[in-house]
Amino acid sequence: MNTVWVFGDQLNRNIGALQAAQPNTHRVLIIESSGKIASRPWHIQRAHFLVTSMRRFALALEQEGFQVDYRKSPTMREGVADHIVEFSPTHIDVTEPNSYTARQLVASLGIQTTASNQFLCHPTDFAKFAEGKKSMKMEDFYRWQRKRYEYLMEGDKRDQPVGGQWNFDEDNRLPPPKTGHDRWPVPQVHTLDDVDQQVLNDLPSNVWGAKPTGLWATTREDALARLHYFVNEILPTFGEHEDAMLESNWHLAHSLLSPYLNNGLLLPNEVLDAAAQAFSDGKVPINSAEGFIRQILGWREYIWNCYWRWMPDYAQRNHLEAHRPLLPLFKNPKKTQMKCMSTVLNGVNEHSYSHHIERLMVLGNFALITGTNPQQFTEWMWNSFIDAAEWVMVPNVIGMSLYADGGMLATKPYASGGAYIDRMSNHCKGCAYDRKKRTGDDACPFTVLYWDFMMRHQDTFVKNPRIARQVRAAQQLSDIDAVQQTAQSILQRLDAGQI
Ligand code: FAD
Ligand code: SF4
Repeated sequence: MNTVWVFGDQLNRNIGALQAAQPNTHRVLIIESSGKIASRPWHIQRAHFLVTSMRRFALALEQEGFQVDYRKSPTMREGVADHIVEFSPTHIDVTEPNSYTARQLVASLGIQTTASNQFLCHPTDFAKFAEGKKSMKMEDFYRWQRKRYEYLMEGDKRDQPVGGQWNFDEDNRLPPPKTGHDRWPVPQVHTLDDVDQQVLNDLPSNVWGAKPTGLWATTREDALARLHYFVNEILPTFGEHEDAMLESNWHLAHSLLSPYLNNGLLLPNEVLDAAAQAFSDGKVPINSAEGFIRQILGWREYIWNCYWRWMPDYAQRNHLEAHRPLLPLFKNPKKTQMKCMSTVLNGVNEHSYSHHIERLMVLGNFALITGTNPQQFTEWMWNSFIDAAEWVMVPNVIGMSLYADGGMLATKPYASGGAYIDRMSNHCKGCAYDRKKRTGDDACPFTVLYWDFMMRHQDTFVKNPRIARQVRAAQQLSDIDAVQQTAQSILQRLDAGQI
């Protein structure tokens, strides 16, 4: 009998090697590695989500008639070795794993891989897109993907974007609505059962954060239900406030689907098909449909391919030589009176989630302008988020957020001061700091450190046309010396957990 070895982020009958497997010819191996689970201080909801999804997937395969060797083992390597001793499989097959380390492990074991279909652009296809190009811009890649998969395309040859334009971002950057905070549909939840309880009992003692509430689905059926709820109830309003942040609502119109896409419970084509269908049925406006499809068909696939092109050195990059240890407030939101930071960090503690702009323009932005070490910040985010995986966390943190790759992924650093946060959120009202002040005890740390960042890196960024204007504005501030002194004092207090 053959064995198909399934990793914990490949939990779908239609992925790679499992597609053709049948109960009468194949046994399935799933390894729950206690060493991996205990190796980091995971957020409890993240650890619970991953392990519960694996155990339930094994149960679903058994119901289909498969013999599943669900093996608890100290390491993956030992799990495979013990499986071979016990079952002597004729042949072991595995779908190309989603991390660099796992691929090295599989190669070192001499196990054959089947090409992964978990993404719509395999790295071999991406190589064709990138061939001969001086730069591989995400926007060009996205248009290429739209054309070849014919999402939101029209015309005789289906090569024209629906609505006459590729990108509706202009309609999607609205600040939060002044009223109607209750307009955001409440996320679905399910009741926890004995399997959930058993997983919680089995988790190591170093997990942290609020316990699971049934927010994150752990079966394919529940993940599909979450997808349909999103498409029917939320997608129509996805676009306009995509970049907004609210103290009173942690999810707004975001899909909350990333964990399922990342562990295989959902596949990208079924999510995209559902969104495209809702658009052609007239249920979703173009700005929402295009905005959402771009995130998955464009950004997600682009990030996946950047990871495979640039790893393994990429994860260690530190172009801006940022060496500050992770600030205490990241691990303990009680250490800060900054409303924006404490709101987002409390949300991470509560749900193991924050939405994209909170990750990029609050958490990432603050790590960037405080000069926080990129590898330490990556580690913290990886431990904390429900949807984290190396392939997606590393390019988003090292490249998009911290400019630690020197501009390989983003053409400018995403640095901003309190003015941006004030425009896109309601955090600044009632904050202990004043977002307009750049000196004095109540000066806003975002504002002060933003100007200080421009000065610290003026030699690097004054040559970058996308950000040179901000550098020159910093150089021309009449009180720049006082601002830089204030920045030093703020950084000291942040290091001591006093801001
Ligand atoms: P929605 O806003 O509903 O977006 C729809 C989908 O688009 C997401 O589910 C996701 O699959 C995809 N998507 C959008 N942007 C990106 C992107 N930049 N990279 C990859 N996929 C994208 N995403 C993760 O899946 N895991 C991570 O560990 C992760 N870490 C991040 C760290 C930082 C610093 C930043 C700036 C972004 C990170 N992202 C990560 C990307 C993005 O923030 C999340 O995918 C998104 O917030 C997930 O929530 P959602 O499903 O509600 O997204
Ligand atoms: Fe954040 Fe500054 Fe606004 Fe306070 S004033 S919420 S610290 S941006």
